[in-house]
Amino acid sequence: MGPMVVSPPRRERVDGQTRVVVDVSDRAPLWYSVPDRFAELLADRSDHVLVGVLMPAMKEARDLHIGGTVTDSLLHQANNDLQRLLRMEHPDLRPIRITADIVALPAAHAPGVATAYSGGVDSSAVLVEYFSGEGVPESLRVTHLLNNNVGAHGPDGYELWQVRCTPLKRAAAEYGLPFVTVDSNLDAHYPRIGFLESVSMRNASVAHLLSAGIGHLHVGSEISYVFARVDDSGEIARLDPMLLPLLSTTAVSISSANSGMTRVQRTVALIGRPEARYLDVCTDDDPTRVGNCSKCAKCVRAMLTLEIAGHLQEFCPDVFTYSTYSEHRDAYIARVLSAGDPLECEIRDFAAAQGWHWRISDRRRAAVRWVRVEAKRSARRMLRRFGRHRQESASTR
Ligand SMILES: [Zn+2]
Repeated sequence: MGPMVVSPPRRERVDGQTRVVVDVSDRAPLWYSVPDRFAELLADRSDHVLVGVLMPAMKEARDLHIGGTVTDSLLHQANNDLQRLLRMEHPDLRPIRITADIVALPAAHAPGVATAYSGGVDSSAVLVEYFSGEGVPESLRVTHLLNNNVGAHGPDGYELWQVRCTPLKRAAAEYGLPFVTVDSNLDAHYPRIGFLESVSMRNASVAHLLSAGIGHLHVGSEISYVFARVDDSGEIARLDPMLLPLLSTTAVSISSANSGMTRVQRTVALIGRPEARYLDVCTDDDPTRVGNCSKCAKCVRAMLTLEIAGHLQEFCPDVFTYSTYSEHRDAYIARVLSAGDPLECEIRDFAAAQGWHWRISDRRRAAVRWVRVEAKRSARRMLRRFGRHRQESASTR
C-alpha cells in the first residue's frame, strides 16, 4: 500500500462547534471539534494529526506525509525514538518515514495548563496536587479541564460521553474552571488498535490540537513508577513516563502527573478533600447510572482502600453505597489476596502497612479462587499445546 497522505487542516463550523478537519488518503477525513467559545485554543499546525495517525500508519507499514506545518522537534522524535519506543511495546508496528509540507521551529508556548478530567481517582488526584493544593507553581496550576471523546466511550459512545460529562461540568463550574469538551472521530482511524493500547497517543494528539491556548497537559498517571516499564503487554499507559516527553515540544509539554504515587496513595489523598464529592470511578456503562455502582471492580477497589484507611463512611452515601459494597466486598478481597496485578498488590501492601487483619474466611476464599484460576490457566495451556500438536500432526501427513 502507498504512503498515507494527509491534507493541511481546515476549519468548519458545525452546530455551534468549530471543527478541524484533514483529508486522509484511503480513509474518511479525520476531524476534531470544540464548542465555538473554545476555538481560540485551536492551533494552526498539524502536530495533532501527526500524533493522531502515527500508530495507525505504523500498523499498516505506510509512510506518512502530513500536510501543513509540523514542529521540527516533534517530527524528529516521531522519525526516531518515538517509533522505536512504540515498537518495543507493540512489536507488530512497522518503522515508517514521516515527512511534512512545512517543518518549522516550535510555536510560542501558551500559558494555559490543562488536565483531562473524568472524575476518577487519578484525575481527581491531579486536581488535589495541581489546582487546589498549596504551593502549586503558577506555570503548573490547572487553568482548563478537558474531556475528550477519542474512543473511551466505545465506537458509538457520543451519547454516553454526553451523559458522563454532565456532572463533570457541574464540578468544573464549582471550581471556576472552563470545561473543554473535544469530540473527534479519531477512534474510527484505529480499527486494528485498541483504546488501551493507544490512549496516550490519542490524548497527546488533543494536547497539540489545543496548543494555541494550552502549553502544558497533566496526564493523570494510572500507574506508579514502580510498574512503569517497556514490555509487550500492549498497555501504553505503562510507557507514559518515557513516552510523553517524546510527544512534547517547547510549545506544548505533556507530563505524567502523580506517577510517584500508587493508586492507593491517590485514593487516600482524596480523603477530606472537596474533589471527592465528584468522584466517579465506576466502569458500569449503563447511561442511566447515577453515581458509582459500588459493585464493579473499580468501585469496590476504591471502597476497600478507603475502608482500610478507616474513612469509607465519609464517602457513604453521597459517593458510594455501603450496602451494595458489602455484598461484593468478600469476592473482591479474594481477588486481592490471590491475584498478582499491580493494583491488587498495592492494596495488599497498604493493608499490611496499616496493620489490617484479613479474616480466616478471606484467606480461605482467596485460596479457593487461586485454585480455580490456576486450573483455568492450566486448561488453556493444555488446549494450546494440544491444538499445536494436532496442527503439527496434520501438517506432516
Ligand atoms: Zn462501579
